[in-house]
Amino acid sequence: MAEEHSVLVVEDDSALASMLKELLEGEGYDVVVAADGQRALHQGLTRDFDVMVMDRGLPGLEGLEVLERLRRKGISTPALVLSALGNPADRVEGLDRGAEDYMGKPFDLDELLARIRSLIRRHADTSAMLRIPGGVLDVGSRTATVDGTGRVVLSERECDFLEHLARRPQQVFTRAGLLESIFSDADEGGVVDTYVHYLRKKLGRSCIRTVRGLGYVLGPPG
Ligand code: CA
Repeated sequence: MAEEHSVLVVEDDSALASMLKELLEGEGYDVVVAADGQRALHQGLTRDFDVMVMDRGLPGLEGLEVLERLRRKGISTPALVLSALGNPADRVEGLDRGAEDYMGKPFDLDELLARIRSLIRRHADTSAMLRIPGGVLDVGSRTATVDGTGRVVLSERECDFLEHLARRPQQVFTRAGLLESIFSDADEGGVVDTYVHYLRKKLGRSCIRTVRGLGYVLGPPG
């Protein structure tokens, strides 16, 4: 059976929201509707959607503001802005502030569905879920979810480092090798240990294991 994709529809016009929900559910999507900016932010931060369809004029918090806040928290769920503000300057603003795609209202339903499919496809190519000790690393959204800690947002460098280890979970990496692969712009080797420290602080001590005299390896599973 095909995987069910989830869509967050952010729309304060209840008739349009119901129509979109029905349309998308008819296409097999799991749909959540948020009718204002605060609810949209809450949903976007707490649930993992495959795509967001985002109105701009919303009560509470403007749609692009919601998007910017989500991006700042490391949420990279692709967003299609669907707005009455449809002139070129509006579109440019939307794309610059974190949207992957933009459609003016009124819009064509088949085109909307095609663009949603395209966003999901493209996002799937760039994201990956990797096993890490006690949880998973979502490279696409740069978040790790670990038992007991919940969802943790990583910096770009922390994520690169952990991804590097998680892609070869049995391999011991030397400090020099890591320095070359991940921190080639750093001028001193201590940066490797600093990042090991950061990651252990965020994800627990066991996420990275020290192999004395050799280097580091992804921690034991479990
Ligand atoms: Ca609106």
